[in-house]
Amino acid sequence: MTQQLAQIPVSELKGVGTALELKLHNLGIRTIQDLLFHLPLRYQDRTRIVPIGSLRPSDESVIEGEVKIADISRGKRRSLLCRIQDGTGTLTLRFFHFSAAQKNNLKPGTRIRCFGEARTGASGLEIVHPEYKKVDSDELVPVEECLTPIYPTTEGLHQGRLRALTDQALDYLKRGALQELIPEQLRQGWKFPGLNDAVAYLHRPPVDVDQHLLLEGLHPAQRRLAFEELVSHHLSLLKLRQKTRKKGAPELPGNGDLVKPFLQQLPFPLTGAQQRVSQEVARDLALPYPMLRLVQGDVGSGKTVVAALAALQSVESGLQAAVMAPTEILAEQHFINFSNWLEPLGIKVAWLAGKLKGKQRKTQLEAIREGEARVVVGTHALFQEEVVFSDLGLVVIDEQHRFGVHQRLSLREKGRNGELAPHQLIMTATPIPRTLTMSAYADLDCSIIDELPPGRTPVNTVVIADNRRDEVIQRVRKACAEKRQVYWVCTLIEESEALQCQAAEVTAEQLTEALPELRIGLVHGRMKPAEKADIMQKFKSAELDLLVATTVIEVGVDVPNASVMIIENPERLGLAQLHQLRGRVGRGSVESFCVLMYQAPLSNQGRERLAVMRETTDGFRIAEKDLELRGPGEVLGTRQTGVMQFKMADLQRDSDMLDKVKMLAQQLQEWPDFADSIVERWLGRGEDYGNV
Ligand code: ADP
Ligand code: MG
Repeated sequence: MTQQLAQIPVSELKGVGTALELKLHNLGIRTIQDLLFHLPLRYQDRTRIVPIGSLRPSDESVIEGEVKIADISRGKRRSLLCRIQDGTGTLTLRFFHFSAAQKNNLKPGTRIRCFGEARTGASGLEIVHPEYKKVDSDELVPVEECLTPIYPTTEGLHQGRLRALTDQALDYLKRGALQELIPEQLRQGWKFPGLNDAVAYLHRPPVDVDQHLLLEGLHPAQRRLAFEELVSHHLSLLKLRQKTRKKGAPELPGNGDLVKPFLQQLPFPLTGAQQRVSQEVARDLALPYPMLRLVQGDVGSGKTVVAALAALQSVESGLQAAVMAPTEILAEQHFINFSNWLEPLGIKVAWLAGKLKGKQRKTQLEAIREGEARVVVGTHALFQEEVVFSDLGLVVIDEQHRFGVHQRLSLREKGRNGELAPHQLIMTATPIPRTLTMSAYADLDCSIIDELPPGRTPVNTVVIADNRRDEVIQRVRKACAEKRQVYWVCTLIEESEALQCQAAEVTAEQLTEALPELRIGLVHGRMKPAEKADIMQKFKSAELDLLVATTVIEVGVDVPNASVMIIENPERLGLAQLHQLRGRVGRGSVESFCVLMYQAPLSNQGRERLAVMRETTDGFRIAEKDLELRGPGEVLGTRQTGVMQFKMADLQRDSDMLDKVKMLAQQLQEWPDFADSIVERWLGRGEDYGNV
């Protein structure tokens, strides 16, 4: 049966010619089944006529009344104004585009029925460009029997057309059912309707539907489809994972020859969490298929050591390791750390960044290709084609959320002759709410470093309006007099890096004027890497008191003596990003401060967000809150990759179902045909992540 609906092309439907077929293809609709899964975005209620007197702004409703006057107004913009009355109130209809015939048709005394969104105009409620038709007063014109679905659409394809097409598709549905892919027992447990009923229901919800539930996306029919959609996404990630697993990876059992002396030379013992996570990683590396492990650990939890241990195990086993960071500053810092740690053990560490040119670059590339370099640290320059590894065994990616899923995938191709894939260790300081790890990262195993090294004092956060800037400056003066170092972070005011850098330059000048006794440095994204490194080095060695910076210092930079941070316009940043920034302080044993200096007035949401920052330094709680306030796309930063777009599901709203989703997806793997149909139904052919 289902084969049929998934195989009948839309061109079989009445009225679908080549042009329409093409538009439907643009929406991803090729078959009757696709059309049935093209579900409404929302609904309009055209099932009843609403008295004008009870209309409120932004209501979308049907109203009926008698035309009182229709006149052309020559205000700011020429328009046709028509006032209608129904005994409960008066409403204005406004047309900016109209014909003479239209005006003549709206003679006083004419009865019309209109549909549109009411809003507050110059003279009370009005509807701009309503749909309308004349009705005879003695004739009973029926209203719609169902809520009117509004479909996602594309240019030149009107709702009416889509409705007519789905009508036809629903006729097919009556004759041949869609295959039920969710087990009966589970459906009963959740009180889910059957698939056919759910689909039919959502395309044409009856008048007596619980509209509130439907609008909130909580109707059982919606929940049922959302569930299935989540299962399909999960399955496709699992498929991706299987595909990588099939590839095989070099076994890297290690022998302790490097790991042991490394641990001995470290000035501190590992925390319990570091030990546990390192063991999880070590176990994975010894297996003959690629590790795909995500290590989450709050800022300052000591992820770099974990990365170094993994790299050493790879080198012990005779293979190279690559360590990649999202920014040049960070990559450089890793390079310095790794060189300091590994060179004494006789391991050559290479360095590669986009801006490395000429002879130096050639030398590094050669060392990587010849295998002389055993560990390579760099930016995404490591992705480039000209970078050829001699025998890459492990890739460590720091700060995952900066890299898209696609980049993560393309790295898998860098293994030895493409036969064996390298192991992958992905490290993020952005704690990812469990809801999201379960869905967006289902292809990864997760480890969490849930313990900070001892001796850290939590950061005190204060929220202050920027009209108290002078006070803040005095505070900075005092802190520096006490030999503390201070970050002053200028955040994005415009969506342009150039402007951000300019703002930082201006701020640095102003602060230099206000605080002449201080040594002030500036770093931003448009400076040459050597200049940046130079300034950072000066700040690190306490030759600078105050560092004015853009958000380039967001991740990873480590200066334990810096214990005060001022962040301008914090209300414009995501909570995760603020948390990252704040993580730059509180690294030493002295008490640290973070001043969030916002521009008044704050929106309610802005106030709530900053309050979260003040109340907690727990990255996971902050991430949960961020997810709640801004949605998964923003939190993951993968909006542009389109990975997290759902038709029906909403990760936040439907999070209660995720455990069951995961379970079912895992069970369905035993039935590949089922699994494939479910993925195809929701994600189409070839659109699963396995093929990106
Ligand atoms: P992050 O997880 O943010 O990348 P880092 O790896 O940069 O954290 O570590 C932060 C700081 O903590 C560094 O100065 C590092 O040397 C130090 N550190 C790491 N592990 C420990 C430990 N077990 N005990 C004490 N200090 C540690
Ligand atoms: Mg780090």
